[in-house]
Amino acid sequence: MMGGMRTAGTKRKTPAHPDEFFIGKRLMVVTAHPDDEGIAAGTMYKNHRAGGTTFLVCATYGEKGKSHLDRPVSDAALKRIRKQELLRAAEILKIDRVLFLGMPDAGVRGRRADLYRKLLPIVRRIKPDYILSFGPDGMSGHWDHITVGGVSLRIARRENIPMLAFTISPEFRRALPPERFMARRKFGSYRPGAPQHRESDVKIAVNAAVKRRAWSSHRSQFSGRPPRFHFPYEHFVRE
Ligand SMILES: [Zn+2]
Repeated sequence: MMGGMRTAGTKRKTPAHPDEFFIGKRLMVVTAHPDDEGIAAGTMYKNHRAGGTTFLVCATYGEKGKSHLDRPVSDAALKRIRKQELLRAAEILKIDRVLFLGMPDAGVRGRRADLYRKLLPIVRRIKPDYILSFGPDGMSGHWDHITVGGVSLRIARRENIPMLAFTISPEFRRALPPERFMARRKFGSYRPGAPQHRESDVKIAVNAAVKRRAWSSHRSQFSGRPPRFHFPYEHFVRE
């Protein structure tokens, strides 16, 4: 239970902070892998608290994310595990609906047209007020992230829906400079060179405890270790 006054059940009429113009609306968050939602987890939870509706689209089941597993596991088994982990996190974050596109993990880049064909009708059906997704840096430089963000932006422009791209916080940048970012790359599929992160122009204060709780659902990805970085803000760039 977070501190402060409870506002559940009442739609927020005016944002608490000018940056929160998109909170309490119909949001579509488009990600590549289960656990990517952690980037905007606090924002999604805040959206729910403000009476908004959140749809989370995840392009893959993350079946290549095996670097933290102690025992070998098949792609099929890991798909099931990671799907359940994301659904559990979504419950904690009060995400209204999770949609999986079932695309191959680490293979989204080569299927850009396929992603566009799958995502466009979903956007048209849901008609979000805002789309949130990766920017051109893909946060970590992962090609799946970059592709998902690029296709989301193309659709957002076509459908005339404003988009906010994830960007790294100054705190995170200090905690994890580009060299460390590069060292963490355990397998291929990253754009060469350090990601060029843009300055944030939208900053959302979030409930870090809820984020931590949701993140703990992704057990297959951190071998039971607690998350290292949890900052009280999430950052975005207006596209
Ligand atoms: Zn990812």
